[in-house]
Amino acid sequence: MVLAQLGGSISRALAQMSNATVVDEKILSDCLNEITRALLQADVRFQMVRDVQANIRRAVSLETHAAGTDKRRVIQKAVFTELCNMLDPGKPPFLPKKGKPCVVMFVGLQGSGKTTTCTKYAHYHQRNGFKPGLVCADTFRAGAFDQLKQNASKAKIPFYGSYTESDPVKIAVEGVERFRKENYDLIIVDTSGRHKQEAALFEEMRQVSEATKPDLVIFVMDSSIGQAAFDQAQAFRQSVSVGAVIVTKMDGHAKGGGALSAVAATKSPVIFIGTGEHLGEIEVFDVKPFVKRLLGLGDLSGFIDKIQEVVPADQQPDLVKRLTEGNFTLRLMYEQFQNLLKMGSIGQIFSMLPGFSSELMPKGHEKEGQAKIKRYMTMMDSMTNAELDSANPKLMNGSRVTRVARGSGRTVRDVLDMLEEYKRLAKVWSKIKLPKNLDPRNTNVQ
Ligand code: GDP
Repeated sequence: MVLAQLGGSISRALAQMSNATVVDEKILSDCLNEITRALLQADVRFQMVRDVQANIRRAVSLETHAAGTDKRRVIQKAVFTELCNMLDPGKPPFLPKKGKPCVVMFVGLQGSGKTTTCTKYAHYHQRNGFKPGLVCADTFRAGAFDQLKQNASKAKIPFYGSYTESDPVKIAVEGVERFRKENYDLIIVDTSGRHKQEAALFEEMRQVSEATKPDLVIFVMDSSIGQAAFDQAQAFRQSVSVGAVIVTKMDGHAKGGGALSAVAATKSPVIFIGTGEHLGEIEVFDVKPFVKRLLGLGDLSGFIDKIQEVVPADQQPDLVKRLTEGNFTLRLMYEQFQNLLKMGSIGQIFSMLPGFSSELMPKGHEKEGQAKIKRYMTMMDSMTNAELDSANPKLMNGSRVTRVARGSGRTVRDVLDMLEEYKRLAKVWSKIKLPKNLDPRNTNVQ
């Protein structure tokens, strides 16, 4: 999970505060110190962390003067808002439109993950109904065309390039022309990421850009550079008109928080993040759902996005609909537990479900979380079909609770705990509305 450490530390700090009987100045300071430490560890710039801290303090002192306000909620809301502000460049990105030819040029330093990301980007759009084509305009690096060809073939995406032509501008123009003629609507041009001198690299980028007139230039950057991302993004922005950024390798680096916030500070919208070497390991970057997930609040939009990759198409709407139609039964909880316990991508995806993520499988405590889920499932195995299919917990009266406890070899307390968990999840899910057209970006998680 992206930035697991940062999210884990911040949500732990908030949870500790929630456990305190009274939220006084000391509790608030401890919580803020923990958050500050976590952000600095994620390589977020000191000045920014200081501002975040001051803003949370200001929001809390302003709002808690009103009588009857829930201090914890105010603090949580302020943390959420501040993290969103930190990562939001305040500028919406350009989005390609289906059926209308669009040229997207990729730039970035060699090793940043540019070529891999071109294919991921093409694949993502292909799954969403676009007709993408890839052009390899990197003639500097030996093997660049082979790499693109290999990636593109794996993803079944048409490609264009040359082993003999050494002029990147010529290849780029020819490739774009070819795909335009064949009515491709997303023409992606991969450029070189290295030259003998940096000035030559920027000059080549400028020439390719001038010749192909891209609708969008995407700058690809490796997250491990942390806050240095600010200078790198600025340098590229000064040479070509960068319209969006993709930050890669968010799966393996503790400095991702620094990279993301630094890019946002350059006012460049981050549109995707790369979360692994494989084709599907790319996530739409949307600030609010990202922060929700970071704080373990669950992210239905990320879930819907990802579910499209692992659940057969005919079952996708059904699953999401069942989860959100306001009839959250014990059986539905049982099925999601089964999914959560599965290894690999599906388990990871189900950990995005609101209510399931930080509460049941807290980061760093996955083993205990799994044991708890298995315990709950054993108890549910002793329940009747009617009980599992009803959203009415009253069916589980005292004698049924005792029977289920006996049947599963657990205590009455354990069964009551499991039912409490069910009530909690049912409450979370009663507030989640499914967008009419299943569009993840319309999803509203309160
Ligand atoms: P380029 O030189 O910028 O075109 O970079 P490549 O696309 O060749 O990628 C460099 C290395 O980074 C390759 O080994 C990729 O598999 C790896 N890579 C790219 N994106 C990601 C990512 O999001 N996560 C991880 N873990 N590795 C990545």
